[in-house]
Amino acid sequence: MRIDLHCHSTASDGTDTPGELVRNAAAAGLDVVALTDHDTTRGYGEAVAALPEGLTLVTGAELSCRVDGVSLHLLAYLFDPEEPALLAERELVRDDRVPRAQGMVARLNALGVPVTWEQVERIAAGGSVGRPHVASALVELGVVPTVNDAFTEQWLADGGRAYAPKHETDPFEAIRLVKDAGGVTVFAHPAAAKRGRTVPEATIAKMAAAGLDGIEVDHMDHDADTRTRLRGLARDLGLLVTGSSDYHGSRKTVALGEYTTDPEVYGEIIRRATGAFPVPGTGGA
Ligand code: AMP
Ligand code: FE
Ligand code: FE
Ligand code: ZN
Repeated sequence: MRIDLHCHSTASDGTDTPGELVRNAAAAGLDVVALTDHDTTRGYGEAVAALPEGLTLVTGAELSCRVDGVSLHLLAYLFDPEEPALLAERELVRDDRVPRAQGMVARLNALGVPVTWEQVERIAAGGSVGRPHVASALVELGVVPTVNDAFTEQWLADGGRAYAPKHETDPFEAIRLVKDAGGVTVFAHPAAAKRGRTVPEATIAKMAAAGLDGIEVDHMDHDADTRTRLRGLARDLGLLVTGSSDYHGSRKTVALGEYTTDPEVYGEIIRRATGAFPVPGTGGA
């Protein structure tokens, strides 16, 4: 069984539509794929409608959080997408991404870059708008050669010249909201240092005590030593260990299924979830 529990579509900053994503996941030989767009569940309908036979869809989202001034991502799986409290918080974060991206456009303009909000809006194409869309605009303008190159102090990295913060949820609140909506939480790429500051182990321990279910260990942003350390931490804290691609289509180099999750861990995640069930593919549209 090949299980990839972290993927993005055009509902946020991926480049595959949800339909393309599930077809590509089947073509990549996956048995289970999770759709985890940033702060939105808007891709679900299209993914379910296109889901090929033999592929199971785990619905989810990647929630933007911040604690002690450090941004972090919390993967949430199989929560009830209609549950009002979590829905309200998700919409708050997602909607705040618009003025925030406009703020980054203004900063770029002040730095002499002729990017426009219309350009970013066209690239985001209705998806939950984020820095990768602004980065793609910078690539279009020839300011940087690749999306990755926009994530520097000079441009869009945390605290960079054109960076603007967005509303982010306290992770303890997010864990509670997801639990109350019947979902399961996994701390995404907890030690991805190249993305900026990371939270200390003591905070992960507190999150575990608050009901965090697992941590994502096998991820392209973790080197071998980091994975070993995180596995030890998970063992000490009684946390599940996942692995996933964090696929973003052509906005990242990672392939679908490049990192995967143990079937036993997947089994535990679906056992714990009460908000939604994995969706078996029926052939698709
Ligand atoms: P946002 O949620 O709008 O602040 O953007 C965060 C997203 O930008 C992440 O989910 C990644 O897709 C991408 N990202 C963050 N850091 C980097 C980086 N160093 N290189 C490339 N992409 C990054
Ligand atoms: Fe992303
Ligand atoms: Fe992330
Ligand atoms: Zn992600």
